[in-house]
Amino acid sequence: MVVILLGPPGVGKGTQGAMLAEALEWDRLATGDLLREAKRRGTELGRQAATYMDAGELVPDSLIVAMVQERLEAMPARRGVLFDGFPRTEPQAQALDRVLPEVGRQVDAVVLLEAPDEVLHKRISGRRHSPESGRVYNVYFDPPEQEGICDEAGTPLVHREDDHPETVARRLEVYRELTEPLVDYYEASDAPVLRIDGDQTMEAVQASVRQALDEALDLGET
Ligand code: AMP
Repeated sequence: MVVILLGPPGVGKGTQGAMLAEALEWDRLATGDLLREAKRRGTELGRQAATYMDAGELVPDSLIVAMVQERLEAMPARRGVLFDGFPRTEPQAQALDRVLPEVGRQVDAVVLLEAPDEVLHKRISGRRHSPESGRVYNVYFDPPEQEGICDEAGTPLVHREDDHPETVARRLEVYRELTEPLVDYYEASDAPVLRIDGDQTMEAVQASVRQALDEALDLGET
């Protein structure tokens, strides 16, 4: 099984993807996480991606496709794969359609998470995370007990470079221009596009995603 999580920045793809992958025991391939990891480790890929990421622009397709292909080939075929933050452009979607059959897979469904722009702005610019515990907070919706400090790790929270308000507007613009056309791309494919209201509580979104996937793909009790 292959499921793609599509939606604007801040809609909750990361959170929902992690919850879903854990519940279904699937692998999750989140290109943003892989790029941030490469950046932190100071690899050649990380160095090349950094300037695009910090400006809220997309990293060139060729770099992304090579990175995804490498990961995909290393994944056990019997487990489902959840794509989070990929594909983000039509050439990436076309590359995925070429690469998946080589590993005996196809896109089975697309989950489209949606929310109004005001909600997305607040969600992203309020986001803080703890590099130590991996926990994500929001200064408006889900603040830590002590301002700026992780409840679990007791160490300072970090504001992602591309979560600053100036960059957020650009990321939303890039989404509308380059990524949103993928909705039509997948509507025209065999894979169902499942539209989910992302402007609900985390638990309610997860329940909606699970229900929609169960109905579309008959995942059974997991
Ligand atoms: P994310 O964590 O998914 O919001 O991704 C953070 C940043 O990484 C994006 O703003 C892009 O600069 C870059 N990025 C992540 N995934 C992709 C992708 N599939 N194509 C191009 N750039 C990407």
